[in-house]
Amino acid sequence: MRTDLFIGNAWAPAASGRRFDVINPATEEVLASVAEGDATVIDRAVDAARACFESAEWRGLSARKRGALLFKAADLLAARLPEMAELETRQNGKPLFESKIDVSSTVETLRYYAGWCDKFGGETVPVDGNFLTYIRHEPIGVVGAIVPWNFPLNIAGWKFAPALAAGCTVVLKPASETPLTALLMGDIFAEAGLPAGAFNVVSGHGSTAGSALVRHPGVDKISFTGSTAVGQRIMRDAADTVKRLTLELGGKSPNIIFDDADLAAAVRGAQNGIFYGKGEVCAAGSRLLVHRKVKDQVVEQLAERTKTLLPGDPFDKKTRLGAIVSRQQQESVLQYIATGNAEGASLVAGGKAATVNGKGYFVEATVFDGVKPEMTIAREEIFGPVLAVLGFDDEEEAVALANQSMYGLAAGVWSRDIGRAHRVAHAIRAGTVWVNTYNMYDPAAPFGGFKASGFGRDLGRAALEGYTETKSVWIAL
Ligand code: NAP
Ligand code: MG
Repeated sequence: MRTDLFIGNAWAPAASGRRFDVINPATEEVLASVAEGDATVIDRAVDAARACFESAEWRGLSARKRGALLFKAADLLAARLPEMAELETRQNGKPLFESKIDVSSTVETLRYYAGWCDKFGGETVPVDGNFLTYIRHEPIGVVGAIVPWNFPLNIAGWKFAPALAAGCTVVLKPASETPLTALLMGDIFAEAGLPAGAFNVVSGHGSTAGSALVRHPGVDKISFTGSTAVGQRIMRDAADTVKRLTLELGGKSPNIIFDDADLAAAVRGAQNGIFYGKGEVCAAGSRLLVHRKVKDQVVEQLAERTKTLLPGDPFDKKTRLGAIVSRQQQESVLQYIATGNAEGASLVAGGKAATVNGKGYFVEATVFDGVKPEMTIAREEIFGPVLAVLGFDDEEEAVALANQSMYGLAAGVWSRDIGRAHRVAHAIRAGTVWVNTYNMYDPAAPFGGFKASGFGRDLGRAALEGYTETKSVWIAL
C-alpha cells in the first residue's frame, strides 16, 4: 500500500503531518492511515503539474511516445491486477469479482486512449479567400480530477487516461473513503516513465483539498464525478477562474419493461441493473417501470430472486452483494427504506441492515412495489440496493414517467418490438439507453448526463476532445 501523497514522482506526507483513516466496510477494521492533503499540498501538486505541462520533457514528447507511455502503464496495471482488485474490495466492500472487472476495465481505458494519441489530428477547413486555415486540438493544461468512492480506480481512469492522452497533466483527488488504489497508480505511472508532475495524487477531504483544487488559478479544468449537490457547488466555485468543467452527477435511471419483452431476461436485467455494485452505481436502474399487464408476474419473479441475493463476504467467490461503503452511507440507505415504508410503498423483499460474521455495513437487497412517482424513493438518488417498482399502461405513459425526473443519466428498455425500442430510446432524455441489456460500458462509448446529471462526457472521442482547446490558425497564401 501507498499512504503518502504522490507529487512530482515522489512520495511524501502532508506538511501538516495530518492523516485520516480508511476503513474496510465489510469488517469495520482500519485498513490504512493516509496523508491528509490540504490547500498547501494542492498548491504544491498544481505547481508540479504546471511545471511538467510547460516542460520540454512533456510538451516536446511526440504523440506516439505519449501513447507508448500509456500502453506501458496499462501493461503494468494488468500485471498488478490481483493486488489492485484486492485493495479495491478492501476499501470499498464490493465483491472481488467486481473489483477485477473494474481493474481490467481501467486497463482497457488506458489502452483505448493510448491508441488515440497518434491518431487524434486536426483538420483544414474550406474558408472564403486565399488562406490555408487549419484547426489544432491543443491540450487544455492542468486537469483537476475529483472522483467518488463507488468505482474508485475505474472512474479515476475515465479522467486520467484521456487527459494524459490529450497531453494534459493531472492532479487527482480521490474520495476520502477510497484513496488507496488511486495512490497506487502513482507507482505505476512513475514506473511506466511518465515525467515528474504529469500525474499527481492528493488524498484528502472534499471541503479542503477538493475545494482548493477547484478554486486554484493554476488549474485549467475540473473533471468531477459525484453528487449533484457537490457538482453545483463546484460550478459556483469554478466561476471565478472560468474553469472548464466536466460534471458527471447523480441519476435516478428508469428501467422499462414492456409486456412484449423476454420477461426472464428482463427480470435478470432489472436485478443486475439495481443490485450490481450494491446499487452504488450512478447509472443504477433504480426505477423499474413495468407494464401493468405483466407487473405482478415480474414483481413475483424479482422478489423470489432478490430473496436469494444475500449479503456476503466480498472475498467469497459466491458473493454477489457486498458491504455498503461506509456506516454513513448505510444509515442514509436505511433512512430511505424507512421513508419508503412511511410513504406507503409496499416492501416485497429485503429492507433491513445486515452483518456478515457479525460485522460490516451491509443492507439487504430491497424491492418496493406500489411506488407512486411523487414518493421520495421514486425521486431521489438512494445510491444503495433499493429498487422502486412503478406501473404503466402504454408506451406514452412509460416515456412520460421515465422523463419525470430532474436526472437524465441512463435508461433501460426491454421489448421485442424493434420499432418501439428505437422510439423509446430516442424519446428518453438521458445520455445512455440500453435496450434488452443493462449496465454495459466500453471505453469507446461516451458516458454522461442530460439535465441535472451533468454535462460533458467521459469515455469515447468526446472525452478526449473535452481535454483540448480548439485553435484556428489562418495563413495568408
Ligand atoms: P460527493 O460528496 O459528491 O463527493 C465526490 C467527490 O467530491 C469526493 O472526492 C469528495 O471528497 C469531493 N468533494 C466533496 N465536496 C467537495 C467540494 N466542495 N469541492 C470539491 N470536491 C468536493 O459524493 P460522495 O461523498 O462520494 O457520495 C455522496 C452521494 O453522491 C452518494 O450518496 C450519491 O448519491 C452521489 N454519488 C454519485 C455518483 C455518480 O457517479 N453520479 C458517484 C458517487 C456518489 P470527499 O470524499 O472527501 O467527500
Ligand atoms: Mg462525500
